[in-house]
Amino acid sequence: IIGLASCSQTKKESQQISESEKQIAKKIDGLLSQMSYAEKMGQLSQVVLKKSDDNLEQQIRAGKVGSLLLSAGSIPSVAKRNEMQRIAVEESRLGIPIIFGHDVIHGYKTIFPLSLAQSCTWDTLLVKEAASLAAKEASAFGIDWTFAPMVDVSRDPRWGRIAECFGEDAYLNGCFGAASIKGYQGEDVANPEKVVACLKHFVGYGAAMGGRDYQYTEISERSLHEVYLPPFKAGVDAGALTVMSAFNDINGIPSTANEKNLTQILKNKWQFPGFVVSDWDAVEHLTHHGMAADSIDAGVKALHAGIDMEMKSLIYPKIPKGKIDGEKLDEAVRRVLYVKFRKALFANPYTDEKRQDSELLSKEKRALARKVAAQSMVLLENNQVLPIRKGKLVVSVVGPFAKEKQLMGWWRSEGNEKDLVSASKGLKDNAPAGVQVIDEVNASTDVIIACVGEKRNLFGENNSRSDIRLPNNQSEFIEGLKKHKKPIVTVVFNGRPLNLAAEKQNSDALLIAWHPGTEAGNALADLIYGNENPSGKLTTTFPAATGHIPMYYNHRNSGRPELNTYLHQLVKPLYPFGYGLTYSVFKYEDIQLSSSKMNTKGSFELSAKITNTSKTEGTEIVQLYIHDLVGSTTRPIKELKGFKKISLKAGEAKEVKFIVKAKDLAVLNADLEPVVEAGEFEVWIAPNSDKGLKASFTIEASKN
Ligand code: BGC
Repeated sequence: IIGLASCSQTKKESQQISESEKQIAKKIDGLLSQMSYAEKMGQLSQVVLKKSDDNLEQQIRAGKVGSLLLSAGSIPSVAKRNEMQRIAVEESRLGIPIIFGHDVIHGYKTIFPLSLAQSCTWDTLLVKEAASLAAKEASAFGIDWTFAPMVDVSRDPRWGRIAECFGEDAYLNGCFGAASIKGYQGEDVANPEKVVACLKHFVGYGAAMGGRDYQYTEISERSLHEVYLPPFKAGVDAGALTVMSAFNDINGIPSTANEKNLTQILKNKWQFPGFVVSDWDAVEHLTHHGMAADSIDAGVKALHAGIDMEMKSLIYPKIPKGKIDGEKLDEAVRRVLYVKFRKALFANPYTDEKRQDSELLSKEKRALARKVAAQSMVLLENNQVLPIRKGKLVVSVVGPFAKEKQLMGWWRSEGNEKDLVSASKGLKDNAPAGVQVIDEVNASTDVIIACVGEKRNLFGENNSRSDIRLPNNQSEFIEGLKKHKKPIVTVVFNGRPLNLAAEKQNSDALLIAWHPGTEAGNALADLIYGNENPSGKLTTTFPAATGHIPMYYNHRNSGRPELNTYLHQLVKPLYPFGYGLTYSVFKYEDIQLSSSKMNTKGSFELSAKITNTSKTEGTEIVQLYIHDLVGSTTRPIKELKGFKKISLKAGEAKEVKFIVKAKDLAVLNADLEPVVEAGEFEVWIAPNSDKGLKASFTIEASKN
């Protein structure tokens, strides 16, 4: 069960850490005192591994390769990886190991659903487990470091990378970001089955202008501190050892040269101990932004702002010695070495070649991928047509995505299409007794399952869309199926919130499957045939028109709230944040507060009774929202402050409890300082952001 508390990660015993931290610091001092300027710059350089590079071994030997970036499709064999590492460790002057990085975003070989989909499970433990499995697989193939999780809050479905974040809410991005970090890094990242995590992209990338990738951002200081920074803070508190800077310009200063964000906030204020890596070519991009006169100028500005390691462009080694502040340079090197020590790369630089054999797709791994996929799918409509149970029935599985195998998202790492179970295959293999699954609609059809969606190159990096309806006349395809006069179940394989107004109208059931990964068809079958009861809920609003973007649940009110409108249009989401159906029916009643008053340091217990009034066992995601009615600054109309996932047998009732703490209701005052303000609040225990049981409470000023 997940509540407010489970998202505030506990820091490790400071006592325990300090001894090994001291030893690491001593070793770093020893190395630093021996390093030449070129060797220091080498540690700060991330080289992209090419299919062939005659010069690479020599560069490693010369201490010029701090890290190697392995792109999908060019992962070296473990033997080759170990040989490169051997040259670094045995043949370079100081024997500093390389850290091998790769984008393990939602799985390595066993591919899990997109991060956006994973957040719809509202299950941090499950997300942690998926990251842990991905770490185990990736590390067996020589990966030390993944460029994940991405915690860029995005409220713009046009932006292709919305698929990579954990939805539109800052608190949820923090919860899932922290859970992923715990999964990737484990209790001790030195464990060979763990990888170093990387929080990205720091900061504000999700607010790219117009949803067009890489564009500049206009983010107020308030939104920066209330919306975009908090998930990173949660990730740093969870122990993330690296952070990647973002491509975007933020209020006139590109993230990659943003000293205030990188150094003053991340490193100084938050005490982030690891290193910051730039994004791909982002240092070089400072020349395009109009921030640097040439590459060298760009490198100088990035390093001074706080970019410790430069990805891909290899600018740092070209910077003439006198141009860099010595202390700044040493600090950057220190941070890179610190992470290498924490990952135990000095003690244990090689990957055990035998491990890969046990890391191929196994039954257990597929089972976990299937579970995560089934729990991430969201049922939006169901006019009594689902689930399809045993009995003499003909089910027609049709549409452009019925046999689609590219359902692994934009980042698919080493996931292989041949291992993926398509919708059609999953629905055939798992069909209950009597149910016949066919590939066409004919006179014997009883139910139509229409599989539609977005191909992997319609979302992800640099794949933004100006229209968020289904592409390629797929809406017309579904409309055309109506002539058969049979129930239509529309299954959408998508990477972003879509405007599904037409599908809502033309379907008897509507299921968001996202890109579910390796076990796509099996997970789908679990839900369609009722072996699993759908439980996923949206973590991002589905707008009713592209022109309504941005639309998100936690907006502030205007002076004329009733006039939040366009001419001749109802401005309401098609499906709100937090929404999702199950095959059960849950009744919410009896909201209770242990006290309707607390002081600015107090807390109270809030509870409600939830009953499964149906005959089907099910899981319900119960959400806690608050609204601060009057304050020194205006507040969102609702803010998510907690959630719990509960299972209820048919007819069963449970009391769901939350502890509401005043400190979790702190707001930023006009000077952006956190304060708990006295005043009236509304609170909801709710099935989604649009409904719920409501109560009120007061925070009273503390006397001291
Ligand atoms: C992306 C990052 C990614 C990096 C390395 C960039 O283009 O923005 O998210 O980690 O490439 O592949």
